[in-house]
Amino acid sequence: MKYSDRILNTPSSFIRDILKVTDAPDVISFAGGLPNPVSFPIGDLQESIEGAIKKNGSKLFQYSTTEGYLPLREMIAAKYRRKFNLDVNPEDVLITNGSQQALELLGKVILNKGDQVLMEEPGYLGAIQAFSLCEPQFLSVTLEEDGLDLVKLEEMLKTNPVKLIYCVPNFQNPTGLTYSLEKRKAMRDIVSKYDVAFIEDDPYGELRFRGESLPYIGAGHMENSILLGTFSKTVTPGMRLGFLITKNTELMRHLVTAKQGSDLHTNIFTQYVIHEYLMNNPYAEHVKKIIALYEEQATAMLDAMEAYFPKTVSWTKPEGGMFIWVTLPEGLSALDVFQKAMEKKVAFVPGDPFYTHKRGVNTFRLNYTNATPDVIREGIKRLGSIL
Ligand code: PMP
Repeated sequence: MKYSDRILNTPSSFIRDILKVTDAPDVISFAGGLPNPVSFPIGDLQESIEGAIKKNGSKLFQYSTTEGYLPLREMIAAKYRRKFNLDVNPEDVLITNGSQQALELLGKVILNKGDQVLMEEPGYLGAIQAFSLCEPQFLSVTLEEDGLDLVKLEEMLKTNPVKLIYCVPNFQNPTGLTYSLEKRKAMRDIVSKYDVAFIEDDPYGELRFRGESLPYIGAGHMENSILLGTFSKTVTPGMRLGFLITKNTELMRHLVTAKQGSDLHTNIFTQYVIHEYLMNNPYAEHVKKIIALYEEQATAMLDAMEAYFPKTVSWTKPEGGMFIWVTLPEGLSALDVFQKAMEKKVAFVPGDPFYTHKRGVNTFRLNYTNATPDVIREGIKRLGSIL
């Protein structure tokens, strides 16, 4: 059988392949990117399922609108008005099948083959995959401790007809890094000068265990800004509920058309359930518990790295989210270290799949949200002995 160039040129999810090897019960895995299952509010969700069915009956089981369940869109809009002082109305919100679908739809609506997409380096693998299906040309700008290298960004925008910029300013996947307030403002000034779609993907922003919440770069400031959010990291990823916010009505119209062609609408059952859950439960309290859990796990990992990793290795110190990014001395390959680590039954994700232009890199991603502090210390000790 013959296949499209589109799919043949798209990287398969290296992480999913790795997870197959690292899933064995005797392996300590820092490879996944999964929320801790103890954080799922199963009892409350069960009540919400019953409550939603009692109140709405067959509506949970019928086809629904492409844009999403209006009361849920209203709730999301109200939250962004309240928390970020943004002028968001329900018609600016599209409910998607996870924020991952928003990335796919945005690619379909914005990109022609060969168009330029500018990403962080390293960047989110799922975005690389989603955009790859449109066969774009990727440009990358180094992600520094406090955000993108802005000199490089401006140079790229000046010299290339970039059509789309994608970034994750809070506790980025894979690095755990957060853009500083200064860089957010400076980046806004730079990007605003160009006719470019600006995607700000924020699945982790609420999971901040240190420091102050920072304003968005594009939302509320740029005409072509698109903000992505999700319930995956704070309620449940399995229900696949995410959302996209944009004030650009033309873009929204095209996205709705693309979504109709993709899945008609997001699962309406789960939209009613999440709405019911949010109506009847203290979401902020629930998120606080997740933050406390992840802070304990992050601290355990960072302390163990300090104790067991050699001084030649460096790593990021996240203020929230789920990941730490490790840099080995120049010339070392994280893939080689991965093989050795698997012999010692400890796993991580080698950096390669997070780059669009580099191979054999000396960086790797650690996830801390899926092991107890004791297991984290043991896994980091094993890794330290290899390093
Ligand atoms: N964006 C980023 C940066 C992510 O890390 C993830 C989850 N790994 C997603 C989007 C997708 O999240 P979901 O589709 O579950 O909302």
